[in-house]
Amino acid sequence: MKSSPENRIACEILAGNAPQKGTIFNIQRFSIDDGPGIRTTVFMKGCPLRCVWCHNPEGIKREPQLMWFDVRCIGDMECVEACPKSALDLRPGGMVIDRSVCDSCGLCVVACPSGALELVGKVLSTLEVLEEVKRDEVFYKNSNGGVTVSGGEPAVQPDFVLELLLLCKDSKMHTALDTSAYCSADVFKTLADASDMVLLDLKTMDDEKHLEYTGVSLKPILNNARYLADSRKRTWIRTPIIPGYTDESENIADLGHFVKEEMGFVERWDLLAFNNACESKYDRLDLEWKLKGVASLDSSVMEELVALARKHSGVDVHWSGPTRARMKD
Ligand code: SF4
Ligand code: SF4
Repeated sequence: MKSSPENRIACEILAGNAPQKGTIFNIQRFSIDDGPGIRTTVFMKGCPLRCVWCHNPEGIKREPQLMWFDVRCIGDMECVEACPKSALDLRPGGMVIDRSVCDSCGLCVVACPSGALELVGKVLSTLEVLEEVKRDEVFYKNSNGGVTVSGGEPAVQPDFVLELLLLCKDSKMHTALDTSAYCSADVFKTLADASDMVLLDLKTMDDEKHLEYTGVSLKPILNNARYLADSRKRTWIRTPIIPGYTDESENIADLGHFVKEEMGFVERWDLLAFNNACESKYDRLDLEWKLKGVASLDSSVMEELVALARKHSGVDVHWSGPTRARMKD
């Protein structure tokens, strides 16, 4: 009998081949916003995009990063003494981390008695992640849920993600790939084919604006989206609705036309309402949050955009955010 790719991968690992290792910044159980049913979402570190509104800034850099939590710090300086690179300086205004010399060795994290320092990003093998996601198998079965691989951008660590998807498949767990689709056509095809479904992020149809808002061109993303259309892959589309960037009616209409003309088979389109909840993560990583003070979107605005998206795309549209709502015929 010819073995399936997932079965072959599982057999190779059982035969003693080392599993792939990847850097992960979170494994979130009981997620209900990352695909159908109850899911566990595995967040991979590393992303080629630089979206102004990124809600997971800890997912951008491929390597683990140090974070300091002011409310937990008791100021005893154990970390400063433990650092072999002299990268830490506790000042009256807070901890200053010299990120140009910090190599994320973690010695300060171990030395800190109050858990005020954490390394975001952990290197795990596919088997370790598999064991973790299997804990909730019963919930996936009862809710038609499964495992979602997200990020960052999963395609930044393609070998790990492919092996994880195939191992999940071998264990009969449903899989979803949550992706910006900004990667080579080969990598995209391989990962999409190995997943049961794809959650595809589309932000704007304007290539110039896409470059300005995210730092990368839209063209490879649309090419990869067309592969999903050609292969009739089960797909949901996701659009972050960001005030001043993607919330214009014209943008929703343009996206809707693309969906209707080229991706009319998609099962669902989600509009994800902006909120400011990520601000403290930017502070802890010494990054600038450019949308400071921008108000969350209220439900009436989101409902108007949902109606517009449905009108132009002809597909089922939902929105989520601070107050989750669903619109149906
Ligand atoms: S992670 Fe290592 S190098 Fe970085 S601040 Fe801590 S002890 Fe120093
Ligand atoms: S060891 Fe921890 S609690 Fe002590 S100063 Fe450093 S971060 Fe703060």
